Amino acid sequence: MTQLRIGAGIAARIEETYEPNFNAAKFFPDWDPAVLQQHGGWLLPDHYDPASGRLKLSVHSWLLSVGGKRILIDACVGNHKPRAGRPMWDQLQTPWLERLAAAGARPEQVDMVMCTHLHVDHVGWNTRLENGRWVPTFPNARYVFSTQDYEHYLAIDRDAEKGPANMGSFRDSVLPVVEAGLAQMVSGAATLDEHLAVDPAPGHTPGTIAIKFESNGERALFCGDILHHALQVYHPQWNSFACAEAAEARNSRRKVLEHCAAGALLMPAHFGRPFACRIESKGGGFVPRFV
Ligand SMILES: [Zn+2]
Repeated sequence: MTQLRIGAGIAARIEETYEPNFNAAKFFPDWDPAVLQQHGGWLLPDHYDPASGRLKLSVHSWLLSVGGKRILIDACVGNHKPRAGRPMWDQLQTPWLERLAAAGARPEQVDMVMCTHLHVDHVGWNTRLENGRWVPTFPNARYVFSTQDYEHYLAIDRDAEKGPANMGSFRDSVLPVVEAGLAQMVSGAATLDEHLAVDPAPGHTPGTIAIKFESNGERALFCGDILHHALQVYHPQWNSFACAEAAEARNSRRKVLEHCAAGALLMPAHFGRPFACRIESKGGGFVPRFV
């Protein structure tokens, strides 16, 4: 298990899946096969699968433990969820909860759940199936959602033509948390406690938030899908097919890279092994330094 110390905090990676999944050229409309020669030294085998032409994107959560509190950042796809629109995520059955327990957190011990945004692969474990109903997996947690994302997807979900939003995940993994009174909506820049703060970082979704952590002078930034793949450190203008607002997504990505180049550890939701990196400014651009 990947565990990183950040000041007095420990971030443990809780894996759901890690295998070649999205076709690179479809995932990145700006994909240029020349990157395979240019970056082959680190891309293979942990970040790209040459046999299939697919990116190797991890799907994981981070469990952040600090001062006796346990904070879960992003909630993957979840088990038993019907996702007919994306077969690789349909009716998953992974030992994610067991991995979370092995990292030191039973569901009732989680104090806070934070979703960087409300896409299907970031909200799944918010709920689990119990007697045929979706119930909050973490009964003692407050769940931090962005108001902008919530309102955006609520409107889509209620629209008879556009709904259900995000492959049904809004209904089975977000609404039950809100109905249980466990959601804390944040709007704009917000400080959550002595260690955690969020900044609006719109683009990938209208309400994406960057989650900033600080302890004993050390800093980290959990970026969700502001960056999906380490190649975007070299190519911050590359959006994924799933980015809603192109110009804003590029702007938010560049801001995150600048923030991390000034000293914060980048904690992505989907980068391949070793799953986190430092960012160095170089020649007007950025370079990942894997930790
Ligand atoms: Zn994602």
